[in-house]
Amino acid sequence: MLSIKCPFCGYRSQKEFAYGGDGTVKRPELNQEISDDKWNEFVYLRKSPRGKHVELWHHVAGCRQWFKVQRDTVTHEIFQTAKMNEEIK
Ligand SMILES: [Zn+2]
Repeated sequence: MLSIKCPFCGYRSQKEFAYGGDGTVKRPELNQEISDDKWNEFVYLRKSPRGKHVELWHHVAGCRQWFKVQRDTVTHEIFQTAKMNEEIK
């Protein structure tokens, strides 16, 4: 069981959180023409990296905020968490 540090609440059990997917995906700019292939890539295609990766997590049973987690997908070690408007270094 992971212990995840919510940037708003502090350390809590993994049971309180939901994984929200890849934190590196960037939404296309608003009002910009985009091909169907690029839109399909944005909506459906995700990498499955091995090692250090930035993910989105949701504190479902707590403050209900979304935030970023830098985690190793092999060892599950968490290196850093950050608010959505903060940068992961
Ligand atoms: Zn929280």
